[in-house]
Amino acid sequence: MTNSLEKKLEALSISNLEDLFTETYSEWFCSLKGNEFFCKINPTYLKNEESFEFLKPQFKFFDLALEIITNQENKVLEKRSNEDNEIIEKESQILYGLIHSSYILTDEGMEKMKEKFLNGDFGECPRLLCKNSVVLPIEFQNDISQCVKLYCPICKRVFYPPYKYMKMIGAYFGSQFPHLFLKKYPEFEKKQEMEKYQPTMFGFDIHEESELYYKPQKKSKKGDDKN
Ligand SMILES: [Zn+2]
Repeated sequence: MTNSLEKKLEALSISNLEDLFTETYSEWFCSLKGNEFFCKINPTYLKNEESFEFLKPQFKFFDLALEIITNQENKVLEKRSNEDNEIIEKESQILYGLIHSSYILTDEGMEKMKEKFLNGDFGECPRLLCKNSVVLPIEFQNDISQCVKLYCPICKRVFYPPYKYMKMIGAYFGSQFPHLFLKKYPEFEKKQEMEKYQPTMFGFDIHEESELYYKPQKKSKKGDDKN
């Protein structure tokens, strides 16, 4: 060991070293490949156990899963079968996801998701004329059987995500997230108009009176049809 390295290590107190090697469950979970859409839940929020009691019936090991995501796992995994430990670990990930769906609706969670949105962490709209506008995660059903979808604030359409995110559960983001996000940050919806496809012939616009002009028909409103 070099002298300079020894001096650096001496300068670190034991508590500093503990901090250096202590990774929270949030940090670990969000760093996993395929979990890029998640933000780190504030540990204080995770300790509001009463707020998550309604989720309890969905879990076999709710209390133990909650201990894992609040970093008390050393107490949890002792003297249990490997099968139970696997269930507890799986349930801890599901619990983190479901709590995440409510955390991102708080001011703090929303702010973290805004950073990820601006960073393009959720990807871009596949619609060509949206010109790589960034999207938001959404799912219409709040059960854990459906994969996440992507909502574009410009064209207001919903798309399946790229294949690598097809295993990500949509309920971990919820159906209300884009709506509340854009209500809080309307500038992301209004900053650009949706560009529409304009047909041309050999590079020239088509006059409305030309026989080549095609005007898309508007969908009739309910009640318009007399039959
Ligand atoms: Zn779009």
